[in-house]
Amino acid sequence: MRVVGLHPDVVVASSRVWQTTCTIVRNGEECFVVDSPVFPDELEVLPAVLEHAGFSFTGLLATHGDWDHLLGRLAFGSGAALGVAETTAARLAAEPGEAARELRTFDDDFYLRRAQPLSVGQVQALPVPGQCEIGGSEIELQPADGHTADGMAAWIAWARVLVAGDYLSPVEIPMISAGGSRDAYLATLRRLQALVEQADHVVPGHGEVLDRGRAAAILREDVAYLEALPDAELPIARRSPRQRAIHAENVARVSGS
Ligand SMILES: [Zn+2]
Repeated sequence: MRVVGLHPDVVVASSRVWQTTCTIVRNGEECFVVDSPVFPDELEVLPAVLEHAGFSFTGLLATHGDWDHLLGRLAFGSGAALGVAETTAARLAAEPGEAARELRTFDDDFYLRRAQPLSVGQVQALPVPGQCEIGGSEIELQPADGHTADGMAAWIAWARVLVAGDYLSPVEIPMISAGGSRDAYLATLRRLQALVEQADHVVPGHGEVLDRGRAAAILREDVAYLEALPDAELPIARRSPRQRAIHAENVARVSGS
């Protein structure tokens, strides 16, 4: 797991798998952990990462309901509060146990062992757009759907950091999952654009932290890609076999098959 500091109040940890990011944000005496790394050893050291930074844990946030972003409770205990967008709370309530099942499948594939199974359990539904209070300040929450049917992006204004969820990735093309849609995805990118323009750092759900210019370039590529579907060319830096497979699913999704 790689850990980088973006600001005295913001640290990002990136998982070895899919470069899944976990953003740790502090204000005053409060600290939230947004999304999660994936491997058991990475989750195990996460509390020590906070301790090392001098942050004391308050609660968890998740940008959306995909299982690989929901593992914070494995690091901080099943009693930890987990705040999600109302859309994500509705999705998790509609598919109880789904995240735990998908985690089990992943663990089985890689022969991974964990001390306990994932229990997403109780979540706190946050109004989005809206604010999440932290210390004496707020994290601004914006709707971010289209990749999935649910989700939010988090704007940490005082640090000029945008936590984008599964958008603006330098390693993954836009993925329209079941429940997602091209139109919603494009609308999310348009909403995020205004925040990207003010950001010093953009944290994608997967991949390295971006500066403003690079995030803006990826945003333009992703808009062009989505608008051109089903005939879209893949962005030049994202043409691996895995990205081509995601592309084939996107094509099927927009073609309605
Ligand atoms: Zn993801």
